Amino acid sequence: MVIQNVLKINENLKPVIQMESLKYRLFTQYEFWRDIPEFANVSEKDFLNYKWQTKNSIYDQKTLIKTISNIASKEFIEAACQGFSRVPMAVRITPYLLSLIDWNNPWNDPIRKQFIPVSTQLIEDHPMLSFDSLHERQDAVTSSLVHRYPQKALFLALDTCPAYCRFCTRSYAVGQNTNIMKKGNFSVDSKRWEEAFNYIESHPELEDIVISGGDTYNLSAEQIKTIGFRLLQIPQIRRIRFASKGLAVMPMKVLTDENWLDAITSVLELGKKLYKEVALHTHFNHANEITGITQRAMQKFFERGLVVRDQTVLLRGINDTSEQMQFLIQRLSYINIQPYYVFQHDLVKGVEDLRTSVQTAIDIEKSLRGIIAGFKTPTVAIDAPAGGGKRSIHSYEYYNRKTGVSVYTAPSVRPGKYFLYFDPLHSLAENIRNAWKDPKQQQIMCDEALNEARKAKF
Ligand code: SF4
Repeated sequence: MVIQNVLKINENLKPVIQMESLKYRLFTQYEFWRDIPEFANVSEKDFLNYKWQTKNSIYDQKTLIKTISNIASKEFIEAACQGFSRVPMAVRITPYLLSLIDWNNPWNDPIRKQFIPVSTQLIEDHPMLSFDSLHERQDAVTSSLVHRYPQKALFLALDTCPAYCRFCTRSYAVGQNTNIMKKGNFSVDSKRWEEAFNYIESHPELEDIVISGGDTYNLSAEQIKTIGFRLLQIPQIRRIRFASKGLAVMPMKVLTDENWLDAITSVLELGKKLYKEVALHTHFNHANEITGITQRAMQKFFERGLVVRDQTVLLRGINDTSEQMQFLIQRLSYINIQPYYVFQHDLVKGVEDLRTSVQTAIDIEKSLRGIIAGFKTPTVAIDAPAGGGKRSIHSYEYYNRKTGVSVYTAPSVRPGKYFLYFDPLHSLAENIRNAWKDPKQQQIMCDEALNEARKAKF
């Protein structure tokens, strides 16, 4: 009996994994920025200084062209200039990000695709796309506070970021005006903030505040403390989270902006004293965004005890394969970032080329289960257009894969309502793409999906 058991165990032994398959643990450590002629003479000390990064960030097309003129082709530069003239987000990219792009093949690079649009890859928006597709403005209770979920509110504290992402859901308000978009205004303003604090104080059901914008990386140390302390001192508040993509676009700030790091830490410490949670929610979309610098920045946060969670957006040609997403999730977990959400791309102007179908998100979700501990497995979700809020990608009432229409409900947010999401046209057959051009056909496809969803519910 004993002998049989030993044999069984031996049969179960797994072969030793080749280090090759653990590549997610290897981080870029060399001075990669020196590969860019413009930064060839920049010392490590300067490159890691957040003030140098901010001062040398690229804020306009002219500087972008100057910086990449020796490393990108004429065709690429022309396509990028034309691209920027057709999208809602302005130019803003850090030297760190620019140096991580593979300039031997910028057309296909996952970081370039997120920050520099090229006209030859842009495609027409879906006809059902609408301004502010998540209807945040309709749930705004003050100019900077969105109150959609019963216990939670979104505080839009500012309207700038260290880098501007093409796919930004708040492209209608974040950053400067562009050729095609005149922006709303969430700029830093103590009067606007005060209105938001007063609203929160007068609503005892609110326990959870997301501080976003814009990117809270761009708040000064004093502003971080003003907001953090004020919210934590409101009796009913139990949790606050600062939203920032900063770790992905300028991780050196955590290493060199001690005032800012101390400010976040002092908010965290006050939270501990009051038995309230303080966290940072960040946003990585591709493993190439994570370097040795990111790892060191995360070690700082970890030493201070700050919980960092990640919210990834599913992006076509960037992270829409199982391999890419698994690699990203493993790398995030390895440096103690909690993979929290993978979001289906919202319907946003000028980024149809980056959207995927709901089916792709479902496939990705399946492939993630089992590769890592359950508590490190992100929820794959969709923010239901028109204010339905976040729903599990699988929870649709109906999904017509031919027309690309999925229908979601949100019983605890908007009881009795139905929310329609539309797969990108490039994922559909040609006859259906043509049908979407006809308003009558559009109505028929939406009605069909709604009727089927209603039938499925009863
Ligand atoms: S960091 Fe966030 S708010 Fe800023 S542009 Fe990117 S997605 Fe938008």
